[in-house]
Amino acid sequence: MDAGQNHVLRCNAMPQLPLIEPNTALFLDFDGTLADLAPRPELVQVEPELVGTLHTLFERLNGALAVISGRPISELDHFLQPLRLPAAGVHGAEFRTDGGMVSKTSAPGLEPLIPHLEALVRAYPALRLERKSVAVAIHYRQAPELAGVVDAAVTEVLRHAVGLEALPGKMVVEIKPAGVDKGDAIAAFMKSAPFAERVPLFAGDDLTDEPGFAAVRKLGGLGVLVGQRETVASVSVSGPAALRSWLHRSARALEGAGGQPRAVPNEAEPGPARRTTTS
Ligand SMILES: [Mg+2]
Repeated sequence: MDAGQNHVLRCNAMPQLPLIEPNTALFLDFDGTLADLAPRPELVQVEPELVGTLHTLFERLNGALAVISGRPISELDHFLQPLRLPAAGVHGAEFRTDGGMVSKTSAPGLEPLIPHLEALVRAYPALRLERKSVAVAIHYRQAPELAGVVDAAVTEVLRHAVGLEALPGKMVVEIKPAGVDKGDAIAAFMKSAPFAERVPLFAGDDLTDEPGFAAVRKLGGLGVLVGQRETVASVSVSGPAALRSWLHRSARALEGAGGQPRAVPNEAEPGPARRTTTS
């Protein structure tokens, strides 16, 4: 049975992705993970069914679902409206635990760099400058041959900058506050309810997601790479469509599992002893 053998070989090469469990703390990157990449960030399309699925998962996981993205949280809210999910934006420089206030890491050294980067984009019109709340991104997706030019320019403008660092991604280099990354953001969510004491799962596609994979691994959870490359993630799926399909199937399975949404955990109900997280 050739087909069967191939299947076994594939499974041995990379473990299969299990459906989301009721005790999962779910962390999801946005671009290239929930949504297909587009030539420009503002052109990204969100599959209509996805918003409903994320809402179901948010309810069934008792609120333990957060989007962990390089985008500002305001853009995530725009794409996923009417949802306002817990989120870390700008790689963790923005943070929102629920639908309320967004806290931001300040980046006072950023503004003086902007004129230099604007001059770079004037010199190379195929580049695109994206202002974020506390970061800036230089995209070269339209001109991959300019990768070296962008790297050199970013190194130059950061030479005398304080509290900022470069973050390379897919066809983009960002300048963001130093010392924040997606791993720190996930670890911060995992310190409090409703995330604490759950098993973290983080899905992402980019190099900037690797600290997130390392963080969930350290916490006994699962990293899911969307795509194929060297990674510290434990499992991979082929692309955003495969990831969305897995989210839809997981949401249906959690709905089918019965019970009332948002019924867990309930202090009044007896249950297995719960560990208390202290320092
Ligand atoms: Mg991504």
